[in-house]
Amino acid sequence: MTEFTKDDWVKLSQSVRIPSLQVIGGKAVDAASGETFESVNPATQQVIGSVPASSSEDVDRAVQAARTAFESGTWSRSSPEHRKSVLHKLADLISKNARELAVLESMDMGKPVEHALNIDIAGTAHFWHWYAEAIDKVFDEIAPTGQGDLAMIRRVPMGVVAAVVPWNFPLEMATWKCAPALAAGNSVVLKPAEQSPLTAIRMAELALEAGLPEGVLNVVTGDGPNTGMPLGQHMDVDVLAFTGSTQVGKLFMGYSAQSNMKPVWLECGGKSPILVFEDTADLDAAATLAAQGIFFNQGEICSATSRLFVEASIKDAFLDKLIEKASVYKPADPLDPATQMGAIVNTLQTDSIMRFIEDGKKNADLILGGQQLTIGQSSNFIPPTIFDNVTNDMRIGREEIFGPVLSVIPFKTEEEAVGMANQSIYGLGGSVWTSNLSRAHRVSDQLNVGTVSVNCVDAISAMTPFGGMKQSGFGRDLSLHALDKYTSLKTVWVKY
Ligand code: NAD
Repeated sequence: MTEFTKDDWVKLSQSVRIPSLQVIGGKAVDAASGETFESVNPATQQVIGSVPASSSEDVDRAVQAARTAFESGTWSRSSPEHRKSVLHKLADLISKNARELAVLESMDMGKPVEHALNIDIAGTAHFWHWYAEAIDKVFDEIAPTGQGDLAMIRRVPMGVVAAVVPWNFPLEMATWKCAPALAAGNSVVLKPAEQSPLTAIRMAELALEAGLPEGVLNVVTGDGPNTGMPLGQHMDVDVLAFTGSTQVGKLFMGYSAQSNMKPVWLECGGKSPILVFEDTADLDAAATLAAQGIFFNQGEICSATSRLFVEASIKDAFLDKLIEKASVYKPADPLDPATQMGAIVNTLQTDSIMRFIEDGKKNADLILGGQQLTIGQSSNFIPPTIFDNVTNDMRIGREEIFGPVLSVIPFKTEEEAVGMANQSIYGLGGSVWTSNLSRAHRVSDQLNVGTVSVNCVDAISAMTPFGGMKQSGFGRDLSLHALDKYTSLKTVWVKY
């Protein structure tokens, strides 16, 4: 592909079709009520389109379509080779339409379009390929019975999977659920976040084009109370996979208890620590990645390393480097290919981040950023913000901000650093910087988090499970372990 200039992206943003209907049973449809809600570009505050505002009636239709498709067996009982070829085709179509998807993602939620293209959309295609390729290579088990008995332990699809996802990596988060669920033979009802519904709709259209039978992947657009809740409470949804805040994750456990006891898999919030020890060999790399860990994607990352524990002896030198590296993340027009930091997803989220910043100013030392910026018609821009001398009991040190705000907490000993890092209701990710191999292993053992990245940040790959401990959730996205969420174990015992 030849490089796109800013003008090219702007032209594409003006000509791209904005999806306006949801996909139920293979058909593009309005909400039963005819109600819609607007999609606003947070970088310009312009309305870019509108999509159906679904209610329980639409959720019922989607679940029914998914159930009918599942029972028909056209997908659920098709051969793994067939599923593999369709999902590879979908991945190829995503790559073919990458620029369209990238510009939709950027306009819908504010991230730099080049990041949407090279990370979100490229990642999405990769994850679809990965699960497509995996599905005819996962074998079931035979128990070691004696002669005359054959006990088969099989994985079977669960039926109708509902996936409720957030807005920070809209298409990627949807794919982390849909790819393993569909590869395993389930039907899916996907509810994207109301802030970023466009690419999910487009992906469902591309799935039909790839040959996924009607009703196997449905997308219902709407907000939490009117669309998410009826999905969570539905008596005919067999499993619910959620990514979002801890607060809403807890509601889903309640929805399950109030309805059909469906398994609920939760991937929730975080306040991940990054620990930088004096013996780090490459402090420059540590500073570059510490900046990336909290400022990439405007800090709207569940596993953002938002608490920096730095050994007191190197604190000043390290913060100087960090501030220099943070300058890369200058908020600007997301459609400019040079932009490394875009707009915060909406005014509500911008206001919430600014409230944390104001609170931080009262309690800690602001050493970078801290002011809301207006670019063009939008004030949804916040530059990299760093507070020094934070403690774990301050709100900015304890609560998930979900924005470009870093809390620096100095430490004197390894024990103290690990103790403070673990002092959190969350346990999603953690990053450790040291050139002492024993320390790297010792600290990794002690951190109560789902992924420890040593001398790197936020190590994510299709091969390795991603998810949290404590109130960051349970269950894992990615890797073959994700298939466990979307399959039941079934024993078939044959006497012969
Ligand atoms: P959110 O919890 O507000 O919303 C997530 C989804 O839940 C959306 O689709 C929303 O419509 C739906 N929802 C909201 N209220 C609901 C209700 N009452 N009933 C049913 N559904 C409801 O989260 P968000 O603001 O979209 O995303 C930010 C959060 O997501 C952060 O906490 C972040 O850490 C988390 N996150 C976690 C991961 C992970 O893998 N652990 C990844 C990305 C984001």
